[in-house]
Amino acid sequence: MGTRGRSIVGEHADEVISLLNRAYADEWLAYYQYWIGAKLAKGPMKEAVMAELMQHATDELRHADMVSNRIIQLGGDPIIEPKLWYEHTNCGYDAPTDPHVVQLLIQNIKGEQCAIDVYDGILKHCRDIDPVTSNMALQILEDEVEHEEDLQALQEDIQLLMAKQG
Ligand code: FE
Ligand code: FE
Ligand code: MG
Repeated sequence: MGTRGRSIVGEHADEVISLLNRAYADEWLAYYQYWIGAKLAKGPMKEAVMAELMQHATDELRHADMVSNRIIQLGGDPIIEPKLWYEHTNCGYDAPTDPHVVQLLIQNIKGEQCAIDVYDGILKHCRDIDPVTSNMALQILEDEVEHEEDLQALQEDIQLLMAKQG
């Protein structure tokens, strides 16, 4: 913990740490949902979907890294027990029990829309009390917005392909 760095957040540090730990749980669950989905994907444009999901998995893991670093800077502890991810998550985990690309995309788009709401919330919550966390939330938000668009573009291409094949 950096003492002056924490002092500018002051009395708000614990509430920010708690928000960040919820986002941290989300990132690990999103990482695994993408990673396992990329391995199991079946159906039209499978190769393109697998590549996109794996790239997003890498991004979510990088987000977990960024969020954990910020928690530690604020003097907090990132969740160390994976079973607690389920208790703290905002966005949950959708097991890819049906690995058809259409289903995977629906599940992961829902996850991205939740992530967008979470980081938009952290950004707004922290804007006046913790500019460093606010800035980090903005950086992650930019990625989540891109992720949603990537997945919706794939969804559209797959729909066009399936319509053509009747
Ligand atoms: Fe993320
Ligand atoms: Fe994402
Ligand atoms: Mg992408």
